[in-house]
Amino acid sequence: MPGQHDSTVVAVDGPAAAGKTTTCRALAKSFDLRYLESGRTYRIIAFEALQREIPVGNAQEITELCDELIVESRSAELLTSERYASDKLRAAPVNVAVSAVARIADVRRRVTSLIRLWAETQTRCVIEGRDIGTTIFPKAPLKFFLTATPEVRALRRVRQEHADTYENVLKDVIRRDEADMSRAASPLVAAEDAIRIDTSELTLDQVVSRMSSACRKRGLETSR
Ligand code: C5P
Repeated sequence: MPGQHDSTVVAVDGPAAAGKTTTCRALAKSFDLRYLESGRTYRIIAFEALQREIPVGNAQEITELCDELIVESRSAELLTSERYASDKLRAAPVNVAVSAVARIADVRRRVTSLIRLWAETQTRCVIEGRDIGTTIFPKAPLKFFLTATPEVRALRRVRQEHADTYENVLKDVIRRDEADMSRAASPLVAAEDAIRIDTSELTLDQVVSRMSSACRKRGLETSR
């Protein structure tokens, strides 16, 4: 049943390169939560579409590809598949293709089901994405929405990955923000009950510290 497992989920949403992955990993460690990076699944579908030369604008073919990948990887295991190296999934062509894949409502429905299935098997977890607190787990008791200016996000991404120039990364961040916010299916928006943190002027430790204190307030215990 959709939303049945909301109570075990910490939802972390926000635009590209807002620091979700790093902070989620820190929270997962401190509070003994399983961690899921939901964007990885959209990236896997986009990567496979590029490999197989399937046009990402063709919703029907991409949905069929999604079904094929789900069958091949035995359902929810697609979410955590280790077959794909992160640098391949984060390459520039995938960054572009993923926006087109993520706007296909039939693909989003399938990924949403997989994420709910995965969460059912977890005692407690932290999941990052764009629609975790709004569409996938609207009743999650703890939701964060991380933001930062596009310039700060681009700079952090360049320092972290050294993969491209600042100008190119900034362009990609702005383009993906626009694509994520303007799509019809589950657009990127903060849930009304999300704790919003603008990380532009904060260090990583400060962000994690704010998130951790909210977790403790909601009764999550730190792991020993
Ligand atoms: O989080 P990450 O930047 O890796 O996500 C890649 C892309 O996947 C995003 O730009 C967005 O279009 C899409 N995405 C999404 N919903 C999610 C997670 C990611 O639409 N829950």
